[in-house]
Amino acid sequence: MITKIIPEEKIQKAKKYVEKGDKFVIVTHVSPDGDALGSSLGLYHFLNAYGKDNVSVIVPNDFPQFYKWMPGAKEIVIYEKYPEFADKLMNEADVLFCLDFNEPKRVDKMAKSLLEAPGRRVLIDHHLHPADFCRVVMSHPEISSTSEMIFRFICRMGMFDLLTKDTAECIYTGMMTDTGAFTYNSNKPEIYAIIEELIKKGIDKDAIYRKVFQVYSESRLRLQGYVLYQKMKIYPEKQAALITLSNRELMRFSYRPGDTEGFVNMPLSIEGVSFSAFIREDKDYIKVSLRSVGEFPCNLFASAYFNGGGHKNASGGEFYGSLADAIAVFERGLAEFNPDEAKESAQS
Ligand code: 5GP
Ligand code: MN
Repeated sequence: MITKIIPEEKIQKAKKYVEKGDKFVIVTHVSPDGDALGSSLGLYHFLNAYGKDNVSVIVPNDFPQFYKWMPGAKEIVIYEKYPEFADKLMNEADVLFCLDFNEPKRVDKMAKSLLEAPGRRVLIDHHLHPADFCRVVMSHPEISSTSEMIFRFICRMGMFDLLTKDTAECIYTGMMTDTGAFTYNSNKPEIYAIIEELIKKGIDKDAIYRKVFQVYSESRLRLQGYVLYQKMKIYPEKQAALITLSNRELMRFSYRPGDTEGFVNMPLSIEGVSFSAFIREDKDYIKVSLRSVGEFPCNLFASAYFNGGGHKNASGGEFYGSLADAIAVFERGLAEFNPDEAKESAQS
């Protein structure tokens, strides 16, 4: 038996929208990860199985190759490529599901159209402090993935029978990627009760692992070697580590989106390192990823120095300036950031 976590009245309200709606749009955050895609496509297949044939998943920009195998991935509308079409879909939707993000700026250039769309918005997410832009807000940071929330949402509407193998594969992918293949945020027993149900729906969990985590190109693996050998700086007195990569370096290793996924976690395998940062030059900004083990609040560090946020142990942000400036800001943060003070002022 799986505990009822989402309040009943929210389920019922969203269920009404599902029953009555005709046109549905599902949106998720920029640079969609496995959970963003898994929750969105999982819900997409469920709505199809329920008999809704006008459902679109819209993402702000493209996503890594190793998620393209996911059922329904080819139907996803990429806003960057088809902005007018996507705007029209949002404007005409009866219901807009907002998945795996907590504030409009996380959908980047889509934010304006999303907020102006006249349809009903429903938020299903697991990030702290959801902004007030949806009629129904299901926000549960204690749940390790939005995909798990989609499972719970479908079951609570009494529609477990409509949860198909396609939905199950997508949900499993999101649960797996947001927990580092069940190596963090993954101690809740119910996660495994849910996985049992997904396996009974016919998923091959081992194959999903291989399709996401064991599809590296040779140059990607060499980039990893280069990073570990030459680009990882350790700050022993701060139990911290930093990896940086410039555009030039990325080009040298034929970088494709997604190639650096997971790099930020690598230094955490060093004994004594509990905070890790990865700073990468992108097209027109600098992308910052932060991870920690234990109590260090990455999200507060991200919001203090990189206009970002996220979870306690996994967060990120963006920086506008040079790579060298971003590194300087990080090092200043390391020197002056006080986790206890930051936690106190975040609570007040
Ligand atoms: P990643 O390092 O994988 O890009 O992001 C890890 C987590 O940090 C994401 O799941 C998301 O919660 C959060 N995050 C990443 N980038 C940003 C950002 O620019 N702004 C905010 N608010 N959160 C971010
Ligand atoms: Mn997530």
